[in-house]
Amino acid sequence: MYPQSNTASQHAIVADFRSDTVTRPGATLRKVMHDAEVGDDVFHDDPAVNRLEAFAADMLGFESALFAPSGTQTNLIGLLTHCQRGDEYLVGQEAHTYRYEGGGAAVLGSIQPQPILNQPDGTLALADIAAAIKPDDYHFARSRLLALENTIGGRVLPMSYLAEVEALARQRRLSLHLDGARLFNASVKLGVPAAEIAGHFDSVSICLSKGLGAPVGSLLLGSRDFIGEARRWRKMLGGGMRQAGILAAAGEYVLRHHVERLSEDHYHAERLAEGLGSLSGLQVTPPQTNIVFVRVPPAVAEAFASHLLQHGILITGTTLQRWVTHLDVDRSQVDAAIRIARQFFESRA
Ligand SMILES: *Cc1c(COP(=O)(O)O)cnc(C)c1O
Repeated sequence: MYPQSNTASQHAIVADFRSDTVTRPGATLRKVMHDAEVGDDVFHDDPAVNRLEAFAADMLGFESALFAPSGTQTNLIGLLTHCQRGDEYLVGQEAHTYRYEGGGAAVLGSIQPQPILNQPDGTLALADIAAAIKPDDYHFARSRLLALENTIGGRVLPMSYLAEVEALARQRRLSLHLDGARLFNASVKLGVPAAEIAGHFDSVSICLSKGLGAPVGSLLLGSRDFIGEARRWRKMLGGGMRQAGILAAAGEYVLRHHVERLSEDHYHAERLAEGLGSLSGLQVTPPQTNIVFVRVPPAVAEAFASHLLQHGILITGTTLQRWVTHLDVDRSQVDAAIRIARQFFESRA
């Protein structure tokens, strides 16, 4: 249900919960972009990109960073940099890199994915990881990399788990990549600096355009050598942008100013879950961060979804709905959404 989305319709929009990617830059962010000092980033000449990369590397405790157009691309660059043709990466069955990125690692990198079942809390069981690692034998692809995602489906991976998984990966000589599209949601939820989470990994991808609210852009972080190699892949994939400082300036701004406020999104998700959970028949998974999953009885799922759409509430899914809170949804919009949802069930009572 994740890839499908109800397109913004002719109805007046009350609140858009489809994704935390739908935010639009407000006046302050547009001013920052307007004022950005730019150059040619493929020549390394864009001051705003260089500043963003240095700032993010410092913030997350890495030597280097690379700015790219999307999280799909920073994940792919990460995989291409870690793995050679014929290598494999171990990855969750539910992971974005495996499931929602068009199979890029296999298609463009000849990297074999070895999917592993995600546990209900989003982790991969250590025993499952250990069992999936191939012996050094020419019958097998070479197990090279373990890729995790945090948050995954809005769930935060426990810090103790990260330590265990890192120990296993080191012992078995696997490199570790984190798809941290929503790393800061995990960090804010746990009250742990993002660098502490990132410190368990060799490379990390973060999205600036999800909850942080930048219009475009992601970063890949790693060692100086790793990012040097990654820069070559970025160029090959067509991700070398020129006066990208206009985007990077927005990225730096949101890293400086929009991290702490993610707790508001988490609060709104809880409020939403509480309100929707009180409606008969809806099964709401208590959210850990900014994503609320709602199971709707199949008999009313279509009608409920169309009621929401007609009243300007945008979400994704029908029998399993996904509601995502973000910068452009405030408390009054959350309350309006709950009211509109309640009307549906009251009118049928
Ligand atoms: C959105 C997302 C990505 C990809 O980011 P894009 O910028 O949309 O390509 C990667 N991983 C996760 C977990 C995401 O949610």
